[in-house]
Amino acid sequence: MADRQSGPNLLRNGTEEQRAAILPRIAAGECSFCIGMSEPDSGSDLAAARTRAQRVQGGWLVNGTKVWTSGAHEADYMILFCRTEAKSDADRHAGASQFLVDMAKARGAGMTVRPIIDMRGEHHFNEVAIQDLFLPEDAILGREGDGWKQVTGELAYERSGPDRFLSSFTLLAEAVRALAPDAPDRAAVALGRLTSHIVTLRRLSRSVAGMLRAGEDPALQAALVKDLGNVLEQETVEVIRLVADVEPEDEAAEVLPSVLAHLVLTAPSFSLRGGTREILRGMIARGLGLR
Ligand SMILES: Cc1cc2nc3c(=O)[nH]c(=O)nc-3n(C[C@H](O)[C@H](O)[C@H](O)COP(=O)(O)OP(=O)(O)OC[C@H]3O[C@@H](n4cnc5c(N)ncnc54)[C@H](O)[C@@H]3O)c2cc1C
Repeated sequence: MADRQSGPNLLRNGTEEQRAAILPRIAAGECSFCIGMSEPDSGSDLAAARTRAQRVQGGWLVNGTKVWTSGAHEADYMILFCRTEAKSDADRHAGASQFLVDMAKARGAGMTVRPIIDMRGEHHFNEVAIQDLFLPEDAILGREGDGWKQVTGELAYERSGPDRFLSSFTLLAEAVRALAPDAPDRAAVALGRLTSHIVTLRRLSRSVAGMLRAGEDPALQAALVKDLGNVLEQETVEVIRLVADVEPEDEAAEVLPSVLAHLVLTAPSFSLRGGTREILRGMIARGLGLR
């Protein structure tokens, strides 16, 4: 997350001090981030976020709850999205800001990170309760009130990169390894089709990277990459489960069944994290002038 979206966010919106202190550590792989956007009553509708930062002497006092926060139990920093002004019906996107939260200082000083165990029985995401967490003045990221613009800009990085179409790649590679060179026709056709789709998605993703580099706003194109990518990632699991003729619990074979077992339980989340399929398709339809 740090190199995918928080680093570029800092590069675009951070102060010189924030960039100098953190970006080299991200590049060196020494610093990790988590993303505090979703809340119990605010997932797809991020503008409904209720976590509030109020101005106090020397900084801000934050109260609220974040949920599904991947890696909050390990991350060095959180980019926290919250309201800095009361909600206005006239403009739901106004009055929000982002903060750069030093997690080592925050945990135990107003922030409580509780594990949520996922379907695989693993601890990946968390509920983060925030009660009277004090953040210094310079913890704000970018300009006060620009949170919505910043967070939507960040989502283009989150949605268009390789981790939105390569989540099942190891399974495809293992299936090719296990079945080639004598794969039955049905399997060969299926694996060839999946491979050609990955090659195409890689091109799409690279063209979004080109738009980002040119300073353009590829929110729509990024939604397209994520939706097509998620369809392919989920389809890969189902297709290989059928053509490879292995069951997840088949202990006799080697790597393929365990990768398959892992992905059968993980794949449902691909079209939820980073924006659900319905939300992305709504964005794409709007971009095509269909709604
Ligand atoms: C593995 C994983 C990791 C995650 N990591 C993070 C993280 O690190 N940080 C973070 O902030 N969040 C994270 N999330 C949360 C994720 O962003 C939300 O789950 C997602 O945005 C959906 O929000 P929700 O769960 O509240 O569902 P809801 O918004 O309640 O949606 C429920 C259902 O209703 C549909 N729906 C909602 N609104 C509409 C609409 N307007 N039109 C049509 N259909 C609609 C949705 O598509 C969905 O099917 C993670 C989620 C997962 C699964």
